[in-house]
Amino acid sequence: MASIPKVQRAAVVQSTGSAVEVRDDYPVKQPDELAPGECLIRLHCTGVCHTDLHAAKGDWPVPPKVPLVGGHEGVGEIVAIGKNTSNSPVKVGDRVGIKWIAYSCLNCENCLKGLEQNCANVKLSGYTTDGTFCQYLVSWVNCVTPVPDGIDSEAAASILCAGVTVYRALKYSQSLPHEWVVLPGAGGGLGHLAIQYAKHFGLRVIAIDTGEEKRQLCEKLGADAWIDFKTSSDIVADVKKITGGPGAHAAVVTAASPSGYTQAVDYLREGGRLMAVGLPADAKLEASIFFTVFKNIQIIGSYVGNRQDAVEAVRIAAAGKVKVYYASKPLSQLTQTYEDMSQGKIAGRVILTM
Ligand SMILES: [Zn+2]
Ligand SMILES: [Zn+2]
Repeated sequence: MASIPKVQRAAVVQSTGSAVEVRDDYPVKQPDELAPGECLIRLHCTGVCHTDLHAAKGDWPVPPKVPLVGGHEGVGEIVAIGKNTSNSPVKVGDRVGIKWIAYSCLNCENCLKGLEQNCANVKLSGYTTDGTFCQYLVSWVNCVTPVPDGIDSEAAASILCAGVTVYRALKYSQSLPHEWVVLPGAGGGLGHLAIQYAKHFGLRVIAIDTGEEKRQLCEKLGADAWIDFKTSSDIVADVKKITGGPGAHAAVVTAASPSGYTQAVDYLREGGRLMAVGLPADAKLEASIFFTVFKNIQIIGSYVGNRQDAVEAVRIAAAGKVKVYYASKPLSQLTQTYEDMSQGKIAGRVILTM
């Protein structure tokens, strides 16, 4: 076995709201200190998400642990497994992924129903347990996502957050091949993956976003129709026209603006499904109750995904069906990346390598 250092490089938030500091003295849990069921992972790379920025700044009502190592979409290799671990689904040397849901107990009511992301005993990567902005991370053999060959670690890292989220929303939209799905925010980090998964499901995609660059990206990724929300005078009418009259079968709303939700009830056809994924702060969903009832519309919230959703999302990407657009940078560039992110300067995703 490779020798495990006692300390490592990690990006640490020492107290809530304090600046991120890249340090070389963060302790590494040693193999003989691992509890049964735990494993030690030597990370290759990690994605950076808006969630991490909120966690570092202490923006949310539930405070994160401190000191905190952020990050929740990483890929690496298992270098040790805790003594007396039984029936491990993974072994030393396996390449695995870490996602936002770091741990779920697998035995509470929500876990048993497949809602592992709502586990009563959940641990969240880079929030309530240390995350992936480091070289060595403790995780759990039952909760890591095996990463197959055919996908590089950087691409897999992005799939483990944004990819899983949109994949699951499309899956639970119960859309059939050749049905119409509307993707507001299609040119963004979640949206550009949603187009590709939707095309893999055989759906016809109406991409909504704005600007020439995003239009080209959406069309390159296979969108069947494009609506620019800044130049369209009536998005609902446009969707109905594109679908030949009755409206779309489903919408996966990743946009963080409430208007994306309100319109969806109007442009969905009877029996349509509105999948709510984006998280506009403090916004309320103002849908017509009359038309929601009359048209048999289903409004369904979808929050990240469980272990099986992650396995499926990664497998589809590894088969070459979903491409991730990313730029690689070293971990020391985290602070700069946060700054670029706050200013909306990042196209695609940034992946930090160790
Ligand atoms: Zn993320
Ligand atoms: Zn549970």
